[in-house]
Amino acid sequence: MRHTLTIKMQSRKYSVIIESGLFQNIGKILGERFAGKKIALITDENIQQLYENLLKKQLDASQCDWEIIALPPGDTSKSFDTLTVIYKRLIEFQITRDDVIVALGGGVVGDISGFAAATFLRGIEFVQIPTTLIGQVDSSIGGKNAVNLPEGKNLVGTFYQPTCVYIDPDFVKTLSDYHFADGMAEIIKYACVADADLFSDLIRMKSHREAKLIESIIYRCCLIKKQLIEQDEKDQGVRMLTNFGHTIGHAIENLYDFRLYGHGQAVAIGMQTITEHSEAMGLTAINTSAMLKEVLTEYGLPAELPQGIDRKLLAQTAMKDKKRRGNKINLVLIEKIGKGYIYPIEKAELIKFIE
Ligand code: NAD
Ligand code: ZN
Repeated sequence: MRHTLTIKMQSRKYSVIIESGLFQNIGKILGERFAGKKIALITDENIQQLYENLLKKQLDASQCDWEIIALPPGDTSKSFDTLTVIYKRLIEFQITRDDVIVALGGGVVGDISGFAAATFLRGIEFVQIPTTLIGQVDSSIGGKNAVNLPEGKNLVGTFYQPTCVYIDPDFVKTLSDYHFADGMAEIIKYACVADADLFSDLIRMKSHREAKLIESIIYRCCLIKKQLIEQDEKDQGVRMLTNFGHTIGHAIENLYDFRLYGHGQAVAIGMQTITEHSEAMGLTAINTSAMLKEVLTEYGLPAELPQGIDRKLLAQTAMKDKKRRGNKINLVLIEKIGKGYIYPIEKAELIKFIE
């Protein structure tokens, strides 16, 4: 079943289309929408290898001039070195401001392509076709993009909305269990801050990877994200709820050099840690952390801080997060399952939520 959402941002209005099998017809869709334009499709080498024949067939079907730019997979591709390669390829392909960049991939491809689209020739049209669960429920919508610096992740970026987002839940079928679980963490996050029914459904769901169920779950998450970002395009109010678990999560990723834990795994630990503490302080309803732990465990996600972790160092690392403003941190807590809220604290108080 096809779901269409219209995202109404101040800077642009655009559609998010969610439908299993959509990619089987993407050439025709792109061809109709971008007739006469050139398509520079940015992807990573894993996706290129997995979907090569279908991808070329679809690009041919668009009847547009096209070129594929395939990046090495992984977060190291979110760098200024990679950007230089992308800009060079766009120039060689003689891309103009009338043409379009299509991002086919996970959050890495989406983030670097979005930044390239926002900056090349001061901005050209940009389409997202997310292929990971994180991409489909989170990173492809909302217009945030970023590149990493040696000093830290996502330190340079812009807000730049796509022209359209095409989500084909069938892509999830080829994801590894590890990356699937990573995406589930973000889904559990949405359920915790905004949708108690989704949380109950996640508990009830038996066959986690069944395509039909995934399609409707992706839709519900996109709907939640739509509602949050439309009210707060620049991440200064309710959109911050999408950061639940991320203050501690980012710090864990940092401390372990982005190797030991995927983004979702680190966020899972972050959500559980913060909720155990907020519950003990009377800021969250009793039994919430037990329910959260049950769901995280069910979906193969870690729910405990790593053994022997230096909690003071973790708190110090979290305090350096770019989302910190002055001496304050806007912590996201949940009042109960399905209801998140922002709880500003002095940065020195963060340790109370970790120790
Ligand atoms: P990713 O893009 O690295 O993808 C994970 C892995 O899955 C890669 O190895 C990739 O090659 C592979 N892959 C992608 N699609 C596949 C498919 N259909 N089948 C098999 N393998 C596939 O990472 P991700 O987890 O999608 O995203 C993480 C990145 O997204 C981080 O850099 C994070 O900062 C960023 N992010 C951005 C936002 C945002 O709002 N802009 C939000 C969340 C995360
Ligand atoms: Zn996240």
